[in-house]
Amino acid sequence: PPDVEALGRGTWTLLHSIAASYPESPSMSQQSDLLSFVKLFSKLYPCWVCAEDFRTYIGREVPKVESRDDFGKWLCGAHNDVNRKLGKPEFDCSRWQERWRTGWKD
Ligand code: FAD
Repeated sequence: PPDVEALGRGTWTLLHSIAASYPESPSMSQQSDLLSFVKLFSKLYPCWVCAEDFRTYIGREVPKVESRDDFGKWLCGAHNDVNRKLGKPEFDCSRWQERWRTGWKD
């Protein structure tokens, strides 16, 4: 079975990078592709308990795909939900683009 930690780190990198490259003003078809991707991802993610909790989260907090910043903040909230569960520090979601798109300014 995959290493849940290494799989998680790699997967968050992929997901936040997808948010970073998502358009600021996506077309209807881009929005529908992203929503489909998130839902299929939640069925296929190869850590069963992780995937089940992620599907529960999606049911509670519907994925926001209307713009890059909406999706990035939604995904940050989903990641924070896992951080809370694992006792890790919460990330300040107002800074998601600095971490994943533009780089820290320091
Ligand atoms: P990670 O949590 O992997 O984060 C990587 C980097 O992302 C951090 O170093 C930080 O720079 C940045 N970051 C942190 N929080 C945020 C945020 N909120 N928004 C944006 N950037 C952020 N593991 C389990 O043991 N049980 C689970 O149920 C579980 N569910 C998961 C569900 C999903 C959908 C995914 C993708 C992973 C899941 N994991 C789960 C794995 C877990 O989230 C971590 O990836 C793993 O524990 C390694 O943690 P890490 O401390 O290296 O940092």
